[in-house]
Amino acid sequence: MHQLTLAEIARGLADKKFSSEELTKTLLARIAQLDPQLNSFITLTEDLALEQAKAADVRRANGETGALLGAPIGHKDLFCTLGVRTSCGSKMLDNFKAPYDATVVAKLAAAGAVSLGKTNMDEFAMGSANESSYYGAVKNPWNLEHVPGGSSGGSAAAVAARLLPAATGTDTGGSIRQPAALTNLTGLKPTYGRVSRWGMIAYASSLDQGGPLARTAEDCAILLQGMAGFDPQDSTSIDEPVPDFSANLNGSLQGLRIGVPKEFFSEGLDARIAELVHNSIKALEKLGAVIKPISLPNMQHAIPAYYVIAPAEASSNLSRFDGVRFGHRCEDPKDLTDLYKRSRAEGFGPEVQRRILVGAYALSAGYYDAYYLQAQKIRRLIKNDFMTAFNEVDIILGPTTPNPAWKIGAKNSDPVSAYLEDVYTITANLAGLPGLSMPAGFVDGLPVGVQLLAPYFQEGRLLNVAHQYQLNTDWHTRSPAGF
Ligand code: GLN
Repeated sequence: MHQLTLAEIARGLADKKFSSEELTKTLLARIAQLDPQLNSFITLTEDLALEQAKAADVRRANGETGALLGAPIGHKDLFCTLGVRTSCGSKMLDNFKAPYDATVVAKLAAAGAVSLGKTNMDEFAMGSANESSYYGAVKNPWNLEHVPGGSSGGSAAAVAARLLPAATGTDTGGSIRQPAALTNLTGLKPTYGRVSRWGMIAYASSLDQGGPLARTAEDCAILLQGMAGFDPQDSTSIDEPVPDFSANLNGSLQGLRIGVPKEFFSEGLDARIAELVHNSIKALEKLGAVIKPISLPNMQHAIPAYYVIAPAEASSNLSRFDGVRFGHRCEDPKDLTDLYKRSRAEGFGPEVQRRILVGAYALSAGYYDAYYLQAQKIRRLIKNDFMTAFNEVDIILGPTTPNPAWKIGAKNSDPVSAYLEDVYTITANLAGLPGLSMPAGFVDGLPVGVQLLAPYFQEGRLLNVAHQYQLNTDWHTRSPAGF
C-alpha cells in the first residue's frame, strides 16, 4: 500500500479497496519501523491522523468525493498546526505549540487530507542539506551517508522512502526543487502569491512560497490544488483564479518552445548531470517540443543578490524571537539585555546566527545602499531577463542542481560551497516565477533533477510538461533500495 501515489490512493479509496484508516495505520507503522534510519519527522501526530482518517472515511461513506479526501500527507514543520509543536527545526521554537492552523494546513484538512506529522527541516528553512536542524540531520534514503537536500529535507526523505505519498514544503531559494532533485521526487514552487503564507513561519517574506513534494507531477497537481488560492489574511496573496490542475495534464507538447539558457550549463555543473539534462531535452523534443538556446545574462549575480536579500529579511523576521514574546528563554537572566542576548544565543543555531549577522549588517545605516539596494536592483534585472526570455519561449529548462547529493558533513566547514548549490534555483524566487523539478536519471546511484520554469501563474504548464515527460520515462518510478 505504501507504494501508491496520491492519484492511486484516491482511486483505491473511491473503489473501497481500503479505507483511509487502514492506509493511515499502515503508513504510521512504516514510519515507526523505518524513520529511525532517516530522521525525517520531528513530530508525529498519530491520534490526530487517525481521527482525520476516520472522519474522511465517514465523509466518503456519505457520498463525498475528492482527490485528497482520506489521503495521508505530512507538513514541513514551519506550517503552524493548532495545538501541535511547530518548531521550524529550531531550539528557539522547541516548546512552541501553534495557537492556530496555517491557511495551507486548514485548507488541506478541509479537503480531507490526513496529516501524519511534521517533517524535519533546516533551522528556519536556512540551508540546502537539512543538516542545520536542531533535531539532527536527515538522511537521504538513496544513500544514508548523503544529505537529502534542504531545507524541506524531511518532507523529501519521507516521500522518497514511501513513508508518505506527498508532503508540503516551502521554497525561498530552492527548498522544494532542490531536495526533490536530490531524492528523485517531483517538487513545485508556485508563483509568489499563489499559495498563502499565513501561518507559514517566515524566513525571507518576499521569497518564501509553499508548494507540494510528491513522486509524480500528477500528484503535485492534486496537492497544489488543495494548497493554492487567494487568502485575504496574507497581504501578498494574489487574487487569481486557480485552474483545475489535474484536468489540464493532457496537453500536447507539439510546438512547445523550450528555452535552454546557456548560463545553466556553466562551469561548476557536473558533466554527468549536463548529459542527463540533454537526454531530457531529447525526450521532450520527441514529444514535439522545439528547443531554443537563450540567455539570462544577469544570472551570475543571483547568488550574491539572494544572499543579501534573504538574510536581510531573515534578520528582520527573526527579531521577534526574543525570549519574551516568542521562543526559548534563558534561565535566570540578570536583566533584560542579558535575557535577549542569552535567549537568542542559546535558541538559534550557528547558520541562523550567521544569516542574522549578515542581514543586520547589510541593512545597517551606511551599508544599506551598497548592499540591500544594489541587490534589489539586481533582482529587477533578473526578472527583466526572464520577461525577455518568455517573449520567445513557453518554458525554460535546465539542471536543478549543479551536483548530486553530497556526503553529510562534506560542506560544513565552508558555508559558501553550500550556497553555490542554489545557483539554478534562486533566480525563480528572486523573480517570483513558478518552477518545478522532476526526476531525470542517476549519477553514482544518486538522483538527478531537471528544472522547468514558466511565466507567472503557469504552474499548470509546468505540471503538464512534467506529466507528459513522466508518461514517457520511468525515472520517477524508481524507489530507493531498502524502502
Ligand atoms: N538554500 C537556500 C538558503 O539556504 C534556500 C533555502 C530555502 O529555499 N528555504 O537560503
